[in-house]
Amino acid sequence: MTSEELKKFAKEVVGVDAIGIAPIERFETAPEYMHPRQIFPGVKSVIVFTRRILRGCYRGIERGTHWPSYQVFAYAGLTKLVHQANYRIGRFIEDHGFEAVPAPPAATLKEAGPRGPVPEGGKYPRNINISARIAAVMAGLGEMGWSKVLLTDDFGPRQRLGIILTDAELEPDPVRIGHICDGCKLCVRDCPGNAIDKEKSIEIKAGGKTWRCNDLNIGRCKLTHFGLNRRTSPHFVKTFPGIVLPMMEQGNTWVEGWNFGHALFDALPTYKAFSAYPIAICGARGCIISCMNHLEKRKRIKNLFKRNFTDEKPWMLEEKPQKFHEDHHGFVYDPEDKEGFGGNVQSDWY
Ligand code: SF4
Ligand code: SF4
Repeated sequence: MTSEELKKFAKEVVGVDAIGIAPIERFETAPEYMHPRQIFPGVKSVIVFTRRILRGCYRGIERGTHWPSYQVFAYAGLTKLVHQANYRIGRFIEDHGFEAVPAPPAATLKEAGPRGPVPEGGKYPRNINISARIAAVMAGLGEMGWSKVLLTDDFGPRQRLGIILTDAELEPDPVRIGHICDGCKLCVRDCPGNAIDKEKSIEIKAGGKTWRCNDLNIGRCKLTHFGLNRRTSPHFVKTFPGIVLPMMEQGNTWVEGWNFGHALFDALPTYKAFSAYPIAICGARGCIISCMNHLEKRKRIKNLFKRNFTDEKPWMLEEKPQKFHEDHHGFVYDPEDKEGFGGNVQSDWY
């Protein structure tokens, strides 16, 4: 089995959009709790593939008129297709006598594992999660933008990832970074969770390359993504009109945000109608929608369309309850309100 045969099968038969291969040596700087060999000691190659999110999935959520399309097709449904592709490519590899270990992108954080510190003294860490984005960069699929999201030449930030570890030694792809993100910082401007830092950055070193991304506040992102941020969730505002969680004041970790989202989920009937779990209410308006829109307009990616996605700034609600909450029927449209909702802030939900 050559790299070429594997890629041909993955693209032409399975239908993935892109596939790349990294030799395991490129992971030598990965911390032990994120190293692929902790899952599969015999790993020689890390295969990463993508399935694009349809651009149309962002319609509705970008105007605050329709959430399910993004939830169903860009999240749950697309994740199933990624898993299916993972299985089919894995079967192809195992038919050739090599092992295929599917390593689905999951929470890539130490704190997502069982309680307790990462063990020292050569003991195995308890919960290994490979950074899917770094693995994708190592496999030559693209670069990480300032937002920390993977950007590819074809779709910019608009894809989901699958990973397979194998003991097959395959021809690797070159790592190419630094040519897509132009540092526009629109992701920062339009992130409703104030999660993407404008100035503070972290350095990532892998596969002989070094790059910087913003020092993402993943806790605030989680609260916003789970729909607990009033600025992007009329659903939350409607159910809990008097509860305010100013994002800039939140110091929660990722797991705390996760647990809080799940704890409140049963009380949010509209979320339950969209999904079996709380997710994707933000619509990734900063890190994906604004970034995609910008990269398309600047023709920095290849998958372009006959029409611009939008020329409007993303909508956003007020974070604090306003006078129209006095009736407490949730977020009530006030046609007389000419103030306080200028720019991109809207008030017409009830
Ligand atoms: S929005 Fe601009 S700065 Fe942010 S990741 Fe995309 S291209 Fe880079
Ligand atoms: S998902 Fe939403 S809150 Fe999280 S970084 Fe992207 S735009 Fe910001």
